[in-house]
Amino acid sequence: MNRGGRTEPESVEVSEHGRAPRALNDSLRALLRPELADLKAYVPEGAMAPDTVKLDANEAPAASSPVIRETIARAIERVPLERYPDARATELRDAVAARTGAAPDDLFFGTGSDEVIALVLNALARPREKLPQAVVLSPTPTFVMYRVTARAHGLKSADVPLDAKWDLETSSMTRGIELLRPNVVFIASPNNPTGNRMSEARLAEVIEAADDALVVLDEAYIDYAGGSLRAWRSKYPHLAILRTLSKVGLAALRVGWLEADAELVRELDKGRQPFNVSATSQAAAAAVVRDAWSAVEDEVACVVRERSRVTTELSRVPGFTVTPSDANFLWVRTEKPAHDVVEQLASRGVLVRSFHAAGGRLAHQIRVSIGAAKDNDRFLDAVRDVSR
Ligand code: PMP
Repeated sequence: MNRGGRTEPESVEVSEHGRAPRALNDSLRALLRPELADLKAYVPEGAMAPDTVKLDANEAPAASSPVIRETIARAIERVPLERYPDARATELRDAVAARTGAAPDDLFFGTGSDEVIALVLNALARPREKLPQAVVLSPTPTFVMYRVTARAHGLKSADVPLDAKWDLETSSMTRGIELLRPNVVFIASPNNPTGNRMSEARLAEVIEAADDALVVLDEAYIDYAGGSLRAWRSKYPHLAILRTLSKVGLAALRVGWLEADAELVRELDKGRQPFNVSATSQAAAAAVVRDAWSAVEDEVACVVRERSRVTTELSRVPGFTVTPSDANFLWVRTEKPAHDVVEQLASRGVLVRSFHAAGGRLAHQIRVSIGAAKDNDRFLDAVRDVSR
């Protein structure tokens, strides 16, 4: 559990079901991919007190209008439950294509963009000549799954620090690309956890430098930031755009997609389980994207208004400095060590994320999702209390 920035002990004597866990036998252990030794499984949260304010996972607040839920309920009602899902996700494909302007054959769907990341790395895993492993490059700090997925698939992960304003440092990125010759470069913009968009001139320079790799521009938070850069695909054939419905209030559906050249999509499809996105998720996501998108945009606009209010109010609290955000969360510098602040907030029933474990310049950084107005008020009250 990552509650209040504290990681729970990883091993337990007795399992959840009351049985002592059996040790993995040595011959099986010897067969495990060596990279797994350095990785930790994601441990889900335990039960939360009912009045806990959960601002630690970049989720959107519950929708204030019933339109989205009603649209989903109607769509799911029509799903033939005895049939496997449509392996091509035709209805969802057409809905996303119509909404975004992408060509239907350029879309590749996954169970969340997490799965898309895994399938991209699964496909583009051949080491370059004279290199022992394929390399995945990303700036740091960024979304941790690029590194974790690369490692879990036996690829090498390398990172290049962002600059003091959390923007791309083009000279070190281009040097990293030259020296390490990555197969895939991931850049999130807006970035998680820093919340800012990368400046376009720098992004273009990095994309141009990586012209023999796949550059995945992860636009998970783009709905909070204005326009997507998907039009850049016509200029850069090695650019792919990653999107998700998770950040706009539909994380439970687990639907994400990549927009890339159809030929790459056909290759990725070979390694995809045909029924990866459930029929209920396909139907629900298609219906919202097609029929209820303006309701989603209203919810997004609410979060954007709250983002500006919370930024202003938090900036007035001594000891807290906010990086201007283009996403649905704030990246906040704390005068006190981040883990102390996170614990003090947790003891007041407000969960936010600390990045202290990474050390260095992250030791004083916390990440706070923008929630519903009343939850943001609870957060601000707790912060004022902690700052005293
Ligand atoms: N990309 C970024 C930048 C993220 O922050 C996240 C979620 N934290 C994801 C991708 C994954 O989203 P999902 O698998 O829910 O689509």
